[in-house]
Amino acid sequence: MNISDSQRVKTVLDNLGYTYTENESEADILGVVACSVRQKAIDRVYSRIHTWNKMKRKQKKNILTFLSGCVLESDEKKFLKTFDFVFKMGDLDKLPDMINNYGVTLPGNFKKNNLTDFWQINPHYDNNFDAYVPIQNGCNNFCSYCAVPYTRGRELSRGSEEIISEVKDLVDRGFKQITLLGQNVNSYGSDKNGNEISFPELLERIGEYGDTSDKEFLLYFTAPHPKDFTDELLHVMSRHKCLAKWVHFPIQSGDDEVLKRMNRNYTLEEYAQSVDKIRTILPDATLFTDIIVGFSGETEEAFENSANAMRRFKYNMVYIANYSPRPGAKSHKWEDDVPLEEKKRRLHKLSDIMMDTSHEYNKTLLGKKMRVLLTSLDRNGEYFQGFTEGRVVTRVKKEDKDLIGKFINIKITEVRHMSIEGVPVE
Ligand code: SF4
Repeated sequence: MNISDSQRVKTVLDNLGYTYTENESEADILGVVACSVRQKAIDRVYSRIHTWNKMKRKQKKNILTFLSGCVLESDEKKFLKTFDFVFKMGDLDKLPDMINNYGVTLPGNFKKNNLTDFWQINPHYDNNFDAYVPIQNGCNNFCSYCAVPYTRGRELSRGSEEIISEVKDLVDRGFKQITLLGQNVNSYGSDKNGNEISFPELLERIGEYGDTSDKEFLLYFTAPHPKDFTDELLHVMSRHKCLAKWVHFPIQSGDDEVLKRMNRNYTLEEYAQSVDKIRTILPDATLFTDIIVGFSGETEEAFENSANAMRRFKYNMVYIANYSPRPGAKSHKWEDDVPLEEKKRRLHKLSDIMMDTSHEYNKTLLGKKMRVLLTSLDRNGEYFQGFTEGRVVTRVKKEDKDLIGKFINIKITEVRHMSIEGVPVE
């Protein structure tokens, strides 16, 4: 979501005549799109602005600094003392005025009226094959470890016609991989009192378009909340080729007591039933998840339940995070009682299980033909890197032709714990 928001910030700055640089020391304006899921991210914002302000004093240059993204109101006040301006992402259209108020003259050809609505600002994509399309903002779930409902506010769905036309436009322009984004995508539309289509209906519309389009693309979405996952959604995914057979299904913990304190509103068995349905209706789908270790009060037994859940559900990929209390979230008031060393041990243990289950799946791919999207070159420039439809990391020996941003068919010749390798075939 932050990458997607940043792409819209880039567009606004582009329109003002700024150009992007990777080199902070040559920048005239520096900004952070902050994340609030973990305190660590906010600590990094403090360290970054400290460096920038030092740089400002040293260079004696009028560098502007801004902060946006997921920021608590109480943090906003503190950050206003160190950043030149702090704004909510929904107020991005006001950024030119803020910059102007700091004495920067806006370019003569800058049209303020083009910036009426956050969603209508065209993102500045980083490439021409991979795009994010936000479909909602905010969240109503109040997981006890998360501050998003307080920083981004309550769920607000974007109009379906606008989403569908953005997807169609991207496909027409040749984009190959499009990801619909939201904090809880499967409750899409529920804030509109029956005046908006549901998430499965939205996917159906895009799926129908994909069936008739002569362009090849894959549509992903993240993240669904297990409590709102429906059979209808899985049936829609199974019907349309362009809807990627990949499910990101955040479990967060495999222990009912911890799940309850996390306010996740499902039990392990309810989650397991949904996984069974995924396996039945989408037998080829890969399964990804998010999990937190060392949550407040997570006993050894509770942790072992998470480890067992990972063995049971055989994920292809698990984003494992050490719990860190986030100010603003409910659990911040609870004791952070699992020592860091123990959190690290638990994280490593889950990481080993993930390597095993991912390897088990990857071994079944050996010798198979698959379609992959090539997205970059490896560090040495010897291999193309990319992903299968199920987002398994893939590498292919580099050829003279530039195949980045293209789908190719490969035969899998080697498999590793977390990746596979193949050679191009017809
Ligand atoms: S579903 Fe839970 S973790 Fe995700 S954004 Fe909402 S409150 Fe945060």
